Amino acid sequence: EMEKIAFIGLGNMGGPMSLCLVKAGYSVRAFDMNPEALARCEEGGVKPAKSAADALLEADVVITMLPEDRHVEDLYLGQGALIDCATPGTILIDCSTISPHTARRVAERAKDKGLKMLDAPVSGGTAGAEKGMLSFMVGGDLKTFMNCKPILNAMGKSLFHVGGNGAGQSVKICNNMLAASLMVATAETLAFGVKSGIDPSVLSSVINQSSGQNFMIENWNPWPGVDKNTPASKDFDGGFQLRLMLKDLNLATSSAAENQAAVPMASIAKSLLSLHMQQSPEYAGKDFSSVVNLYNSEI
Ligand code: NAD
Repeated sequence: EMEKIAFIGLGNMGGPMSLCLVKAGYSVRAFDMNPEALARCEEGGVKPAKSAADALLEADVVITMLPEDRHVEDLYLGQGALIDCATPGTILIDCSTISPHTARRVAERAKDKGLKMLDAPVSGGTAGAEKGMLSFMVGGDLKTFMNCKPILNAMGKSLFHVGGNGAGQSVKICNNMLAASLMVATAETLAFGVKSGIDPSVLSSVINQSSGQNFMIENWNPWPGVDKNTPASKDFDGGFQLRLMLKDLNLATSSAAENQAAVPMASIAKSLLSLHMQQSPEYAGKDFSSVVNLYNSEI
């Protein structure tokens, strides 16, 4: 018989992820403190629960997809702690992007209660979540990871076991800090090219075939109009929210400090995105490629 799954946190990512599990044939009992988020998933076949504790009744596996460290800490360890509601043997999978430090702390407390825990942050955005095409970067015990593979496969195409508890978060943070640096550098380069009199589409095509080639110039071009499919061409709607990228850069710089790692490139990207959000708070919920506006007040 297939495992019963409890799913907590049905936002932009968790909502579609829970629906992928339903489509794969799992029984999913879910909870979100936002009734609208819960109602949207109920239409797709998720069974609504009255609380997180209620969602956990009979669950073999618990999946959480929450915004930040404090939400994860609160839910797992705070009042009515999840680790006290779960029966020993239950597997806990946290897919939120949080600090490796918090991920390890929660996993240790879970272990004390006879629970197994994985940190399994994802990459691929809301489109990846909808199509069940996410990448999972998983930290924790290898055997637990192997046992969870079918469940993760229902939501993602690439599954990576990268080390012990917290390692999934470390890998996710590394990826996002590089993505942020690539985006800022790409935006800066295009703005400079345009001020030098070069057409941004021509410049993008050349870079795409030259040594400056990168994921952003190819798939996420920050210059409005160069690629009609990118957020830049849709008033920066969709994509990855500026405020979430800043959250991840804060995770990067604080985790780097804890590990005596110097990350000056990530720090510069963080400062520029942060300056952009201060100057244009209306972009906080829009795609982070809007940082291009810092370099060009005319667009
Ligand atoms: P979101 O804000 O859309 O969703 C979070 C949901 O959690 C909300 O619906 C909220 O009501 C719910 N929630 C918070 N605390 C709760 C609690 N105690 N009990 C029940 N529900 C609770 O955020 P999101 O975009 O889905 O992102 C979730 C995580 O995934 C973040 O850590 C983010 O950095 C990461 N992530 C997001 C993307 C993306 O493109 N959006 C991509 C990769 C990773």
